[in-house]
Amino acid sequence: MDAVTRAVQRIGALTPLKTDCGRLCGAACCGGGAEEGMLLFPGEEAFYQGREGFALREVTLEDGLPAVLLVCSGSCRREERPLGCRMFPLMPRLARDGTILGVRMDARGRPLCPLTHGPKAALDPAFLAAVEEACRILAEDPRQGAFLRRLAAQERAVRRLFG
Ligand code: SF4
Ligand code: SF4
Repeated sequence: MDAVTRAVQRIGALTPLKTDCGRLCGAACCGGGAEEGMLLFPGEEAFYQGREGFALREVTLEDGLPAVLLVCSGSCRREERPLGCRMFPLMPRLARDGTILGVRMDARGRPLCPLTHGPKAALDPAFLAAVEEACRILAEDPRQGAFLRRLAAQERAVRRLFG
C-alpha cells in the first residue's frame, strides 16, 4: 500500500473536533471555486481524473516547482476527500533533515479557519495523534517526504508574513 493511502487510512474518519467544526465557520475551508483548491500529494491526482465534481489544475508553487491543485465544488463524500483536506488545519513541524518534530496549526489557514487562531490543544487529541503519525508515514517515503517539505516551507513563509 502506498504512503498516501496509509496516511489517509491512519486519519480515517477523524476530524479536528469531535463535533462538526464546519458549524463554526460555515465550512469555510470547503468554499469551492475555480481559483481555490487543495494541493494534492504526488499521485493523488489519478483518483480525481474524470471524477464528477472535481477539476485538476497544474500550478507552480513559490519554489518554482509544479504541483497539482484539486478544485472542488465545495462538497464531497468523505471517501473522496484528499489527504490535504483530511490533515487541515494541521501542518507538520520538520527538522532540517525532514524528520517530523510534531504538528502545529497551519498558518496558511488563518484567513479562513477559526481553529487556527486557538491552541492546538483545543483539537481532538486522537486527530492530532493521527495527523502526526500520517506525517511520519509520508516523511518516510522519499517522494511524499519531499513534497511534505515543500508544503512546510510554503507554510513557514506564510507564518513569517503573519509575524
Ligand atoms: S475552516 Fe477550520 S473550522 Fe471551518 S470547517 Fe474547515 S477545519 Fe473546520
Ligand atoms: S475536496 Fe472536499 S473536503 Fe476538500 S475542500 Fe473540497 S469539499 Fe472540502
